[in-house]
This record gives sequence, structure tokens and C-alpha cells, in this order.
Amino acid sequence: MEEELQRLVAAARTEVENIGGPAQLEEFRVRYLGRKGLLSGILRGLGALPAADKPRLGAKANEAKAAIEELYAAKNAALGPGQANFRPVADLSLPGRRPAHGRQHPISRVMAETCAIFAAMGFDIAEGPNVELDYYNFEALNIPAHHPARDMHDTFYISDSILLRTHTSPMQARIMERQEPPLRVVAPGQVYRCDSDITHTPMFHQVEGFLVDEDVSFSDLKGVLTLFVNKMFGSGVGLRFRPSFFPFTEPSAEVDIACVICGGKGCRVCKQTGWLEILGSGLIDPAVFEKVGYDPKRYSGFAFGLGVERVAMLTYGIDDIRLFYENDLRFLSQF
Ligand SMILES: [Zn+2]
Repeated sequence: MEEELQRLVAAARTEVENIGGPAQLEEFRVRYLGRKGLLSGILRGLGALPAADKPRLGAKANEAKAAIEELYAAKNAALGPGQANFRPVADLSLPGRRPAHGRQHPISRVMAETCAIFAAMGFDIAEGPNVELDYYNFEALNIPAHHPARDMHDTFYISDSILLRTHTSPMQARIMERQEPPLRVVAPGQVYRCDSDITHTPMFHQVEGFLVDEDVSFSDLKGVLTLFVNKMFGSGVGLRFRPSFFPFTEPSAEVDIACVICGGKGCRVCKQTGWLEILGSGLIDPAVFEKVGYDPKRYSGFAFGLGVERVAMLTYGIDDIRLFYENDLRFLSQF
């Protein structure tokens, strides 16, 4: 068998010299190294040999295999690009590679959709500064210095009087200062709080909305927000107004929708209550009107603030808010 192997390698060496093209080389590979090739044929005889000879001849067989493989690899490299016989596979009728499509970020989408719903109800869209004065962020909204509500805001201060806005509500004061009622405005944008876990990020998004006119009542607030929820989450979704407290609205209410995951039966996401909070709202406090020079006896209005990440998480079934800001294309391309 040893001689047989030597003869095989010698034959392969002579034959490989005369190969002129890829097709011939492939033939060579199949004949010598293929599963039904010459080398396999010899190796099949290995089983019939005395046990004492097997290790030595097995090693010889491996050597022969390596030698032939080397011959094949060397010839393959020699027939590569630049050689007359080299033919790259090229089918000019194949379709081209399409450029990857970008998609809108889920947060941008929810913000745009929210603004579109309110714009259809006649609301204007306004944007304001992210770096805000303490006055507009707190003072003008009936949250004076040392008010306990300031503790809930985890504010990033830049100086004693300048901060990163903790909500989009400063836009109420800024716009009311410049314009007389009637007013219908939504103000989308980034807000900042010193807080980070699976449901909080230091930067997040809100959409602020407010309406000021004569004879605005709580039923107007309910009507507008019910219409919004029906457009955003589909008509017929359960909705409830729950009494709450905000310094700049009186009375105040938080708005819950029936859990979109379990349909109100109770699950992990809604903490078994069947309800999910999506926004805070209320009638604008007369103290806020006084700050901007409106007559609280003549004008009334309502305001609300919507958490955009919260709505996006519910709409798309996402359970960790941080996924929105990791810029992982595998996550982002799903929307
Ligand atoms: Zn639920």
C-alpha cells in the first residue's frame, strides 16, 4: 500500500503540470481527492490490514493526501487573476445591489403622528429652547423656589438660574407671554432629568399641548384627549381620567388607557391593573395666567403633557426604554 500511495502522488505531480484551465483543475481534484476518488479508493483497503501496520500506513496516507492537496492549491493560485485562462463569474443581467433604506426612528414617528393628530384639530406646532431659564421651567408654572414639586424633577442645573428643561411645559408660559388667546398649541421636544433605568433615560421626549379661550371647561379637555387616544390607539380603546396633582393645573388628572397588551385583563406590563398611564393633564391654574398677564376671570384653558417614549413602548411592545438610544440597526430596522 505504501508503494501505491507513492505512485499516486507521483502521478498527480506529473498530471498537474499539464493542467491549463479551471475546468481541468476541477477534474483533477475530483479524480484524486473526491469522495469516490483514487485516494479514497486506496484508503478503503486500510481496514483489511493487520492492526500492527495500521498506524504507520494511516500516517503515510495522510502525508499523501496533504501532498496532493498542496499540488492542487498551488495550481489553483497560479490560474488566478491575470492568467489567460482566468474567467471571473460575471452575469451582467443580474440585478444590482440595492442601497440600504433608512427608516424613521420610532420616537420621531410617534412625535410626528401625535403632532399630526393635533394639527388636524387646529393646533399650531411650536418648539422652544432645551436650555431654559429656571423662571419658565418652574417659576412661571406656579413652582416657586423650595416648592416640593421641584424635588420630583431631578434637574440638571447649568447655573442657579439656567437649567436643561425638565418638561415641555415652559412653552406654555413662553407662548402665552407673547400671544393673546385664543390659543391652541402643541410643543414637541426633548426634556432632561437626572435619572436612568429600564423605564427612564436622562434625555426623553414629551409633547406639550394647551388650549386657552373663553369658557373652556374640563369637558373640552376630555373631548380632545379622547379623540387623540382614539386616533392614536384605535377607536374603542378604554380610557379613564384619574384625579392627580400638578402645580400648574387645577383640577389635574392623569389619563390611563386600557392595557394594549392584555386588553384590560391584567398583565406584567400594566402591573395587573389593566390600565396604563400615558399623559398628565388639567385645567390651567389661574396663577399661571396671572404670571403671563391674562385675566383668569375671562380666560380658562387646559394643558396636557404626553410621554413619547411611553407611547412608543406601548405601540411597539418594547420593554426597555434604553433600546431607543443604543443606535443598534438590528433594533431600529424593525420599525
Ligand atoms: Zn396589561
